Amino acid sequence: MQPIYEGKSKRLFATENPDELIMQFKDDATAFNAEKHAVFADKGRLNCAISNLIYGMLAKEGIPTHFVRLLDDTRVVVKKVDILMVEVIVRNVAAGSYCKRTGVAEGTAFGAPVLEFSLKSDALGDPLINDDYIRELALATPEELAFLRRSALKVNELLSAFFLKAGLRLVDFKLEFGRLATDPATIVLADEISPDGCRLWDVTTGEKMDKDRFRRDLGNFMESYAEVLKRAQHALEN
Ligand code: UDP
Repeated sequence: MQPIYEGKSKRLFATENPDELIMQFKDDATAFNAEKHAVFADKGRLNCAISNLIYGMLAKEGIPTHFVRLLDDTRVVVKKVDILMVEVIVRNVAAGSYCKRTGVAEGTAFGAPVLEFSLKSDALGDPLINDDYIRELALATPEELAFLRRSALKVNELLSAFFLKAGLRLVDFKLEFGRLATDPATIVLADEISPDGCRLWDVTTGEKMDKDRFRRDLGNFMESYAEVLKRAQHALEN
């Protein structure tokens, strides 16, 4: 079957239900706007498992998501959404592009979370944008933008507490949201939540357990994802 969409790390397939899609996690890893690319056996399965576990936890806490049901190791059924062309990034600790932009040392903790928006455009390299850009580009209404902010901060609280139980410090992460095909007035959390889009550092050693291992060639890339999954499963049970 041909995907209706193929991204860097996922494929989307149509189903008999016009309001649902199948999302398949691939084994591909990309970084630096896909300049760097490699395939890692088992990556799709690990990200699928981590993402589902987190989505389950968030749903239980009342966060509306696109998740419908798990199909198998690498595929989930999701509600069809129209993805908002704005990526929402939440930062608790300085890292990545924040450090590049400001010169602040990696690892500097923030007094309060730093919320950031970027235009979802690979062609433009996901540039940083603000509320006024979002208004002029008609990416979201003021009410939707307020909802994105509130949701992202709530997800940050829930995720930070959850990962802390797993011995992991949630440094930063990216969220994507979509308007339901069946009800465009309703916005839900979409895409994946995995170490591809979160920075996670071991609470005691500070070791990076996320895609920075691939970005920076630190080795033990999939071993770290497997460890994140193991710890997350343990945190969920306790
Ligand atoms: N991120 C992502 N997709 C993007 C941009 C960022 O998943 O297109 C995630 C990234 O993995 C990190 C956080 O968002 O956890 C903040 O990323 P940053 O802006 O520092 O970008 P980077 O320097 O990692 O490209």
